[in-house]
Amino acid sequence: MPMDVVQLTQRLVQVPSVNPMGHEVDQPEIQLEHRMGDALEQIFAEIGVEFERIEVAPKRDNLVAALPGKADKIVVLEAHQDTVPIEGMTVDPFGALRIENRIYGRGACDVKGGMAMCLAVLSRLKKKPSENLPTVLVACSVNEECGFTGATHLANFWNEGRSKLISRLPDAVFVSEPTLMNVVVAHKGVIRWRCHALGRATHSSNPSLGDNAIYRMAEVLQAIREYEATILANTTEPGQLGPPTISVGTIQGGVSVNTVPDQCTIEIDRRVLPGESQEAIRQEVIDFIAARVDNPDKVQHDAPYMSSPGLPLSDTSQKLAQQIAQVAARFDVNSQPVQVAYGTDSPAYYSVGIPSVVFGPGSLVQAHTKDEYIEIEQLEKATDILEAVCRDFSNSP
Ligand SMILES: [Zn+2]
Repeated sequence: MPMDVVQLTQRLVQVPSVNPMGHEVDQPEIQLEHRMGDALEQIFAEIGVEFERIEVAPKRDNLVAALPGKADKIVVLEAHQDTVPIEGMTVDPFGALRIENRIYGRGACDVKGGMAMCLAVLSRLKKKPSENLPTVLVACSVNEECGFTGATHLANFWNEGRSKLISRLPDAVFVSEPTLMNVVVAHKGVIRWRCHALGRATHSSNPSLGDNAIYRMAEVLQAIREYEATILANTTEPGQLGPPTISVGTIQGGVSVNTVPDQCTIEIDRRVLPGESQEAIRQEVIDFIAARVDNPDKVQHDAPYMSSPGLPLSDTSQKLAQQIAQVAARFDVNSQPVQVAYGTDSPAYYSVGIPSVVFGPGSLVQAHTKDEYIEIEQLEKATDILEAVCRDFSNSP
């Protein structure tokens, strides 16, 4: 019997692979992807396929398995191994509890359900190969949630011809994310960095002797709001992505109420349109702020800790979306091409010349939540569709 997608989802949710999100590892019993790497090795062995384990960083390995096909095509089913943190969850994050028609737990929706779909497809194709099957890879990347470094590493690994599983670049990468079985054909990119306002500390009984870094940061924030209301509000985007955005997500400053603070730090999130250079856009923001604060020398910007391009709308992505939509219709699923604001692993593959779109079960609304779950019906339908997409792939023009 091929592997069951529901059981696979539960099995994967039970393996912690929490992303430390750019911070020091402080919960080693659940953080990083090495346990998931071990579980995937086990699953690949059970399916009976060759695989490679590629270190990206300590305890963070990409895992890739291959089922060689007779047709001269290579298709990749991709899913990331990591999940966001579990703080504040109201369901057992690793319990993989099945209640009625849902599986609950961290990653159930984003994206262990999607990974289970890829593995179930591989298992079905292995058990029942069809005549004109392409070579099918299942690629499981690390660190998607905080920088897409696993996918970037894997794209370069293939591009440099270092894989023992394939001797040329794949023809398509289907990246799993909860898209409700629609196909993401384009999305925004992102760049994130920390900005510091500096000052001079003194006792709060005589504040004029100091230089208040929080007040300076208020000028920075004012400038960012002005940037949003002028530059961004007047940027038009020709597609359906909507305008680029900026958001300040955290602020930290000061040590106690009786001390004038000498430091205040914010984190800036700037979403870019496909085709925009993240670095050029970041510089635009930095220059805009510098021109509007009284003492720009006392505003410092760290190097970005996360930067990813958008996925541009292309003929190849629209063609892949069409292939999926035609197959989905046979399963009574209306799969539409969509453009979204969130980032995925897709641009990493696209940037080395591999056509890539995003498709998977579940809704983004349930991703990253305190009671994350995935609908079993979504899992099963998406698996049927992706299996048929693989079987049909070599017949499509
Ligand atoms: Zn995801």
